[in-house]
Amino acid sequence: MIGLISATAAGAAARDRLAAAWPDRTRVYDGPVPDAVRRAFAECEQLVCFLATGAVVRLMAPLLAGKAADPGVVCVDEAGRFAVSLLGGHGGGANALAVEVGEVLGARPVVTTATDAVDLPGLDTLGLPVEGDVAGVSRALLDGEPVALDAEVTWPLPPVPFADGPAAHTVRLTDRAVEAGPREVLLRPPTLVVGVGASRGAPADEVLGLVEEALRDAGLSARSVAELATVDAKSDEPGILAAAARLGVPVVTYSAEELSAVDVPNPSAAPLAAVGTPSVAEAAALVRGGQLLVPKRKSAMATCAVVRRPGRGRLAVVGLGPGARDLLTPRARDELRRASVLVGLDQYVDQIRDLLRPGTRVLESGLGAEEERARTAVAEARAGHAVALIGSGDAGVYAMASPALAEASDDIDVVGVPGVTAALAAAAILGAPLGHDHVSISLSDLHTPWEVIERRVRAAAEADLVVTFYNPRSRGRDWQLPKALAVLAGHRTPDTPVGVVRNASRPDGSARLTTLGALDPATVDMMTVVTVGNTATRDIAGRMVTPRGYRWQEAAE
Ligand code: SAH
Repeated sequence: MIGLISATAAGAAARDRLAAAWPDRTRVYDGPVPDAVRRAFAECEQLVCFLATGAVVRLMAPLLAGKAADPGVVCVDEAGRFAVSLLGGHGGGANALAVEVGEVLGARPVVTTATDAVDLPGLDTLGLPVEGDVAGVSRALLDGEPVALDAEVTWPLPPVPFADGPAAHTVRLTDRAVEAGPREVLLRPPTLVVGVGASRGAPADEVLGLVEEALRDAGLSARSVAELATVDAKSDEPGILAAAARLGVPVVTYSAEELSAVDVPNPSAAPLAAVGTPSVAEAAALVRGGQLLVPKRKSAMATCAVVRRPGRGRLAVVGLGPGARDLLTPRARDELRRASVLVGLDQYVDQIRDLLRPGTRVLESGLGAEEERARTAVAEARAGHAVALIGSGDAGVYAMASPALAEASDDIDVVGVPGVTAALAAAAILGAPLGHDHVSISLSDLHTPWEVIERRVRAAAEADLVVTFYNPRSRGRDWQLPKALAVLAGHRTPDTPVGVVRNASRPDGSARLTTLGALDPATVDMMTVVTVGNTATRDIAGRMVTPRGYRWQEAAE
């Protein structure tokens, strides 16, 4: 039993929400708080106190008997922001309780015991239906005990710190109709596609009965059914729609033309005449690939077939921004925590390592090795994992997105998360240099012949574009920047403003506003971007400003 104790009106409101959510697990202790605490402490295995931690510590100190005897205690603050595991984190189950209370109240669980496993997604928050001993296996994870993953099918799960070998606790990823054993949780991935066909007016009970029987005979779980698939002509067939609704899955339809092209074991003449494809159930189940587990079965008015479609891997290409933590977007943070495999350059991995969840497999490599990183990320996604490939700034700007997507085929899902690229980070520091048309040019001639780069610089000069140079200068590459600046100087006056920003948003960052005539290229390195204004750009109060429209500028002159 969980004892609930509160002192204030806000505390009582939160207490009542918890009591309403868990009517059978909780008991409210009213009356004077010290007395309520004493009684609950003696009578309950766990306590949730809607009180300050200090108050609870003072009240409980005289009652403490030892780790094995004391209840697990969670404190929730007045505003309901935090659920603090105060006492009995492991033995008393307070860590797990803090997580559970947090989920009910929208409070953040605060756990201070020395296991990093607290930053775990709950097994029931992985996005898949769960069965079995969720509380016991969750507690084992929270306590850092080994939990094995037994994956019968692939699915891009978020990171969970599973043990390498067999363990007392197990999470089984399965679409088969098995029962959870002791100390086992079953996760039900939506891997099954049921193709259905039906004559007009086929009763819902018949369609559903046929589907359920097919699943049962094949030893498959209805909880792993992702969708019912059929031909367009049956998209409003009431029996199919009702059967899907009762299974809690959508109906997905395909054109007769698309279905005709699918190679099936049991084509027949009847559907060809009726809807224009020799197979509905088998073809609709197989059209997006997979393995046919149940070939076509028939009842009087319906047909069905079942296919297993393993989970598609997921590749998130994530830009980390220029360096500062608060320039990393919340979406990027979510994707980093969603991925069970992280691929990136070691120095970028260091930038975000603290955000990763325990159980994340980190594949880091040194400078260079770009193609290999891209290949690794795609290969991991192809193996069915949730992968994040990271890059600084925006991962699509002179970075990993293009080599990765060049490598990827349509057998994985790809998600891009934009990041604040160096040109924007630098511009915000300099003022408003990108207020009109602008271009970025990389001066690295590693992958691009210099003639091509120079031609583009010349075009930018002639078009009077503001130019941001990435990769402007390195130890072995020192003549390109002066050359590029000389090309621009052919079209712009020596007093054209130039911004030089080094390590934008990083601790040792610096920025300088100078001019095309005065810039000393020796002060520029690979940590720097150089932004050259156009003929309208001005230094206004030490800020680099490119007017938005030249009409405005003409009026001002
Ligand atoms: N994907 C990155 C760019 C990679 S190319 C982005 O979108 O920002 C590497 C070049 O980016 C460096 O040579 C430098 O010119 C520039 N750069 C990256 N981060 C920077 C920062 N914080 N400050 C200044 N320049 C940076």
